[in-house]
Amino acid sequence: MQKSGNIAIFTDLDGTLLDHDDYRWDDARPAIERIHASGIPLIAVSSKTLAELNHIQQNFGLFDGLIGENGGVISLGDEIEQPGPLPQKIDDAREKIRAAINVPLGSFRTVSPEIIATETGLPLDDAIRAGQRHCSDPLIWQPSEQDIAIATDIAAQFSLKLVKGGRFHTLCGPSNKGAAMTRMIERLIAGGRLNDAPSTTGTDDANDRDSTAKTSSITTIALGDSANDIPMLAAADIAVQIPPKRGTNTDPLLTHPDLRIAPYPGPAGWNAALQSILDHITNTNKKSEVLHG
Ligand SMILES: [Mg+2]
Repeated sequence: MQKSGNIAIFTDLDGTLLDHDDYRWDDARPAIERIHASGIPLIAVSSKTLAELNHIQQNFGLFDGLIGENGGVISLGDEIEQPGPLPQKIDDAREKIRAAINVPLGSFRTVSPEIIATETGLPLDDAIRAGQRHCSDPLIWQPSEQDIAIATDIAAQFSLKLVKGGRFHTLCGPSNKGAAMTRMIERLIAGGRLNDAPSTTGTDDANDRDSTAKTSSITTIALGDSANDIPMLAAADIAVQIPPKRGTNTDPLLTHPDLRIAPYPGPAGWNAALQSILDHITNTNKKSEVLHG
């Protein structure tokens, strides 16, 4: 039986909880209110900076914890951890890439906030926050396949990676959204927000479906829409893939024993998928209470 004390939800933002174009999340409000009322921790997991995530949090108060820069920086309460690399390493790798490729190369760490605003469609204040980077650097370029291969090789020489997100290739460390999710769960348990007590009422669907790596009684739900979400989706018990706003390609991002593809793009799909999952968990609980209570 899953109680709200042992469920945690991890969500990507752009193209997942936030609309791909206007960054709005209103269509997800019913599920968010339900999650808050249930006391289920909701964690933002994004390529955004902590400055951007803190700003969203100050405006809307949606989240219980923040994971920024694709897992490179983790914020819970007053504590910040940085699994990601130091900025100097990022800068050294980027300059080596710049010298090796055949197209002009800008990046969020090197261009003006005005250019970041143009590239992202963000207002200038948001673009300034997007440039405040701890440990990763989205590239501004028009690369050929060969340029991408060269940049990937050079990144590897620095023990870094080139990760394709919804809009940008980002130069970042080996930390990823999945590893950061695992670390956040440890911190939520230590802080008393999650209860990793063994289940006493037998198996539930989440445990039935794959017992190979399940050593925790906590059920994790992750939602994402692109390649940089795969480690997070892979690490979750229930993975929700949000389809693209444009085009019809909803091929699964990964092989996962409990992958659900949301019925709509963006926040509307986020809402529908989570309502369905929470309905199922609630019904399972009711049945369990009848059987065992
Ligand atoms: Mg996304």
